[in-house]
Amino acid sequence: AKREGRSIIKLFEPVMLYSRQLRSQMAAELRGAISSNELVLHYQPVVELATHRILGVEVLVRWQHPLRGLIPPDTFIPLAEEIGVIHDLDRWVMSTSLHQLARWRRDFPLDDDFQLRVNLSAVELKQLDLVDSIRTLLRELDLPSRNLVVEITETAIVTRGEVEMYSLLSLQQLGVGIEIDDFGTGYSSISYLRELPVSMVKVDRSLLTELNTRPGQLEFVAAILQLIRAAGLEAVFEGIETREQAKQLRELGCASGQGYYFSRPMPADEAGALLATTRYL
Ligand code: C2E
Ligand code: CA
Ligand code: CA
Ligand code: CA
Repeated sequence: AKREGRSIIKLFEPVMLYSRQLRSQMAAELRGAISSNELVLHYQPVVELATHRILGVEVLVRWQHPLRGLIPPDTFIPLAEEIGVIHDLDRWVMSTSLHQLARWRRDFPLDDDFQLRVNLSAVELKQLDLVDSIRTLLRELDLPSRNLVVEITETAIVTRGEVEMYSLLSLQQLGVGIEIDDFGTGYSSISYLRELPVSMVKVDRSLLTELNTRPGQLEFVAAILQLIRAAGLEAVFEGIETREQAKQLRELGCASGQGYYFSRPMPADEAGALLATTRYL
């Protein structure tokens, strides 16, 4: 419980910047945001770096606030965790995006191995019914489990509680892909890479920003990619903003990535229009 307390304080720092009054007002509004249909999902393509083939899309939630406009998730996800709304939020995202995928699959052809990538908050792994609810959704929508990848931050995974491990193993058994997100930012714990039932590692974009400016950074990134490969896992890079970065990562043997260079996150109709007409970016 001690450990939890500390990580909670760390997670909520950004929200602390808001005044108490604004925070409690936003908390009240956030509780109603799901039922009032104010949350919207955007989708960002993940591509194979060698061919630019679209491997899938990451689902990113936004809050379309009636007065404050479009609020980014970094602002309200920590608040949702603090006030206990994150559970409903993540379930809503999972259900809504899987329904979207089912509609896309009905309306146009998608690759068999297309990946819908959904972020899961750390606390979700503690929910005993998480895997059952995902299994039920996949069955109802007639979607193969390989079409779903869950992205979980390394801090959530590294705690390795019993329930967390149970959730991960059940997800793996179900055939859902599991990715460690934001690798390189938290308590990077290299040995866990080989022990956890995960299949992919997404390297945090902070490692890319200094690629061309900081001496030795290219070698550093190369070593990280090698480490991930040596653990038998697939590396994904996020935050690719330039052609040069895409080229360098490809040359270092990184298989896939995402970022503004390829595409920004898009609303569902735009993403659908893109996926319906092209397999490459
Ligand atoms: P993340 O999982 O690391 O998501 C990647 C973030 O990087 C997204 O920010 C995306 O818009 C942004 N990004 C993508 N390409 C680039 C690029 O080339 N350059 C830069 N500078 N940024 C890029 P976004 O959408 O603001 O999401 C922020 C975070 O909020 C996510 O980080 C994730 O941790 C969380 N989040 C988003 N949606 C959900 C959700 O449905 N559930 C939960 N639990 N968390 C979510
Ligand atoms: Ca993510
Ligand atoms: Ca990330
Ligand atoms: Ca992040």
